[in-house]
Amino acid sequence: MTTTVITIYSNDTPMSGDTTGEPVLIAGAGPVGMTTALALHARGVEATILEAESEDRDRSGSRAIYVHGSTLRTLERIHPGLGTDLVDEGLVWPTRRTLFRGKEVFDRTYDSPGGSGDIPHFTSIPQVVTEEYMHDALDEAGIDIHWDAEVDTLETSPTGVHVETADGREWVGEFLVGADGGGSTVRKEIGANFEGDQSENAFIIADVGEVGDDPLPLERVFHYDAPEADGRNVLLVPFTGGWRLDIQCIEGDDPDELSSDERMREFVRDIMGERYEDNLQWVSSYYFLQVMADTFVDEHRRVLLAGEAAHLLAPFGARGMNSGIADADEAASAIAAAINAQTDAVIRDEIELYAARREKAAEFNLNAAGQALEYLQGGNPVTILRKEAAAALADHFETAGEWLDDAPYGPHGTPPIVSTGNY
Ligand SMILES: Cc1cc2nc3c(=O)[nH]c(=O)nc-3n(C[C@H](O)[C@H](O)[C@H](O)COP(=O)(O)OP(=O)(O)OC[C@H]3O[C@@H](n4cnc5c(N)ncnc54)[C@H](O)[C@@H]3O)c2cc1C
Repeated sequence: MTTTVITIYSNDTPMSGDTTGEPVLIAGAGPVGMTTALALHARGVEATILEAESEDRDRSGSRAIYVHGSTLRTLERIHPGLGTDLVDEGLVWPTRRTLFRGKEVFDRTYDSPGGSGDIPHFTSIPQVVTEEYMHDALDEAGIDIHWDAEVDTLETSPTGVHVETADGREWVGEFLVGADGGGSTVRKEIGANFEGDQSENAFIIADVGEVGDDPLPLERVFHYDAPEADGRNVLLVPFTGGWRLDIQCIEGDDPDELSSDERMREFVRDIMGERYEDNLQWVSSYYFLQVMADTFVDEHRRVLLAGEAAHLLAPFGARGMNSGIADADEAASAIAAAINAQTDAVIRDEIELYAARREKAAEFNLNAAGQALEYLQGGNPVTILRKEAAAALADHFETAGEWLDDAPYGPHGTPPIVSTGNY
């Protein structure tokens, strides 16, 4: 199908430089929207990104610090240099350590924690830095972001999508990728709904800047029922330039009170040492949603949801941005195939295959993050007993300590590959 793509302005006065001829619209310039544009470009398909916020927006908070090796390889494949730039900028912490009520139960340091290839098993880097590199990659690829262009309404038909942004402008394309985050307008406009639940406890998440003198060793530390946090679970993860501090609230906690500046300074002092006390950079509290859309595509197979527009996961196991980037790559692959297809049935098939694959992946990831969350919330008496027994045995059996070290992140493994069901 050949489609002329135009941008129409409500006042009928074309604004120079904004008219696009690209066949794909992308809502949202988060990591998923930007990856979608790069992955389409790598397949010879150009896209227009519509972003609600302004170019000078603040994207503070380290958020998706744990970038999996598979994500780095995807980024390197679609934009050579992007994956390795993130590797150069990020850090690979060599040590995993776990404590249980003040007592160390596991401590392991790896000689080559990232493995032996160019792309390590993971890198630890603030999301805002990853996004900066993605912006540079978009510039290199000649892809513009249309800022202050909030998708407001959309209509789909068997041949394409018509979008109106809040400023009254209208845009048309053959396909639209909804990468507009958890509150996605695109999701609502295609009539898809989130289904799932929410964590029982709140989590306080803070970024603490690195100190020059006597810095903490580069260890990922999980502390069960930490005495320094009055019996709450604490996770400490280093990233380039700082530390992520997660504190899990317990029954009766008021997350607002606990995340106040004064209380957080106390936590930082008690957990990390006095020298870190003045380095608190960002604090937020969350109840984590565990939800996915009941469909990832519209009725005409012209709109594809990706990333947090399609699913929200608790961050244990770091499946949020990582799985969103996998969605982006697969959405681009499906659209590139659909654009070259000679029949409407093949177009539908490509988009439906995207939905089948990524809905299955989201189910898998939700289940994995859900297991981690259930384990961490620890209300189940059997889980409590298992933790206590493992802690008691850890001095004698390394596997007991290793289990305690591993369990907070949920099961390992990646989603199964889903085919059309044909043999
Ligand atoms: C505390 C915390 C820790 C996390 N840790 C990890 C981790 O270690 N690893 C990991 O993989 N993930 C992690 N995540 C999840 C990760 O941050 C998200 O999965 C990721 O940001 C989702 O990217 P996205 O592009 O789908 O959505 P977003 O980053 O939310 O981007 C959506 C974009 O769409 C724009 N937008 C919204 N509405 C509209 C509209 N109507 N029209 C146009 N544009 C619109 C928004 O302004 C935004 O730019 C964490 C999240 C949190 C909160």
